[in-house]
Parts: sequence; structure tokens; C-alpha cells
Amino acid sequence: MKTIYHQTPLLQSHQLKKEKGLNVFYKMEAYQPTGSFKIRGMENLCRHHLANGQRNFIASSGGNAGLSMAYVAKKLGATIQIIVPESTSEFMINKIKNLDAEVIVHGKFWDEANDYCLRQAKETNAVYVSPFDDELLWQGHASMIDECAKAMPQPTKIVLSVGGGGLLLGVLEGLRRNGWESSEIIAVETYGTASFQKSMAKDELVTLPAINSIATSLGAKTVTPEVLKQAKSFNVLPLLVSDEECIRAMFSFLDEYNVVVEPACGASLAYPLFYDEKISETDTVLVVACGGVNTSFRQLENYKMRFLD
Ligand SMILES: *Cc1c(COP(=O)(O)O)cnc(C)c1O
Repeated sequence: MKTIYHQTPLLQSHQLKKEKGLNVFYKMEAYQPTGSFKIRGMENLCRHHLANGQRNFIASSGGNAGLSMAYVAKKLGATIQIIVPESTSEFMINKIKNLDAEVIVHGKFWDEANDYCLRQAKETNAVYVSPFDDELLWQGHASMIDECAKAMPQPTKIVLSVGGGGLLLGVLEGLRRNGWESSEIIAVETYGTASFQKSMAKDELVTLPAINSIATSLGAKTVTPEVLKQAKSFNVLPLLVSDEECIRAMFSFLDEYNVVVEPACGASLAYPLFYDEKISETDTVLVVACGGVNTSFRQLENYKMRFLD
């Protein structure tokens, strides 16, 4: 079947090999048509419901999930409403509107937009689309590990960012499918978005009072309960990095690959750059470069002034 998401390249970091003797490979999800891995899950979800005769969808994300859903819906001929909170940038709203999705602004933050979205879905009989909490998304995301398994031997470490936990659940599904369960998984968040790290430490779901980080795509106050449950049967190590480390890693990645990603992706990129004492020369490290497009030129200038100058 011809898919809407792309099979993405797996690129070795020649820079990290040369400078630190490390074997690091990036799965380039930033190269997806929507700039992030989210398109994989959204395509799977959309196709599933279309096959069951449902054509109308409603989603609650002004970020990469909403953008990917809008893209997939346009390609597959579904209708999509996207409920975004007031905190969503004009920059992202325009990107979504360019894909002919209807954008409705409701509520201050994501939680309120999401509650409204759930109510509307019930009232209008549209399919509710969560940005991270749906098994169809996890099954779709898993295709990135299927591709890696064809392109490299089993990595000793896999590095990825955690927001609500959809990407992590997708990767765990991919590991099961490919017999890679024994790899160590480094699950990265920033200090201000540490809902997964705190939940793992307490062994119960922790809800953050607020999100306090520039890595807005990692800003789920509570992770999906399923990720806490499944992470226990794998070798998952939560790691927290600073906003500044995200930004430094983003710019380093830009210099090596000429690719711009979000701070949410920079969190994972920071691991081989700033936590390399945890990596040995015999390790093979797979970093999911999850991407993200909520980074305008202006925004990059702001980050530079705030963290680098
Ligand atoms: C959605 C997203 C994440 C986090 O994914 P979850 O499934 O919410 O854990 C990380 N990085 C980027 C760029 C994203 O769009």
C-alpha cells in the first residue's frame, strides 16, 4: 500500500563518531511531510475509521498532532475540525488552515480545548482524535521501528522524547514486533514537563500543576495510564534535561544536518551531546529525531537571544 507518511532515512552522526567515538543514529522523522512522526499514527487512525464508514473527525491539538491529522484528512478525503486553545500560535494555526482544516479556538489551555472537543465529538457524532492517547496511534508510530529494524542491528540504547506517551508506546510496540525488547530506552523530558519521570518515580500517575518549559510539545500534564503500565515491562529510564540543553542540541543538529526541529525533539538530541558519559564506545544509540514544526524564524531568534547570547 502507498502510504502518506514517508519511510525516513536513518543517518549516522559522523560528527559524534569523530568527536566522541560514539555510534549514534538518527531516525529522521523531521523529514515527514508534516515535519514530525505524528503523521504515522494519524494515518493509521484515519484509515481505520474511514474503513468503518466514518468521515468526520475532530481533534484537540494546535501542535504537530493537529497538523498531521489535517494533512492526512485532506489526503484521504475526510473532514476535520481542530479545536485549539488560545495559547496556540498564529504560526501553527495558519499552517493548519493551509490544509483546509477548520480551526476553532476554545479555552485557555489544552485541557479546556480537549474537554470541549470531547463534548463536540459526542454531539456531532464525529470521531474524537487524541494527540497521544489512542492505540491506533501507537500501532501507526511503531512503523518507524519496523524501518529501523531493516536498516540497522539492534541498538543497545533508544532515545526518545515523552509528552503524553504516545511516541513511547509506539516505540514499545515496534520493539515487540521486531524482537528488540532488550534495548535500553532513554525517555527524555524537560524539567518543566516531567509528568512521566514523576509518575515512574512514584509508580502512580502524577498530574503536574503547570507546564513550565519551552518544549511545549512535551507539555502533557498527565501521561496516558497505559504508558506507565507498559514501561514497567521494558528497560525504560526516564531522563530530565534543561531547556537550554534542548536549544543547544537543536542548533547543533541544524549545523550537522541543516534541519530545524522543535525543543521537544532537542530534548532527545541533547542525550548524546551532554550525557555522553552514559554511553560507551561499544553502544549503538538510536535517537528518534521526532521533529516538530512549531519553530518560526522569529522563534529561533528568540531562543538564540534567551539561551545562547
Ligand atoms: C507529540 C510530540 C512529542 C511527544 O509525543 P507524545 O506522543 O505526546 O509522547 C515529541 N516531540 C514532538 C515534536 C511532538 O510533536
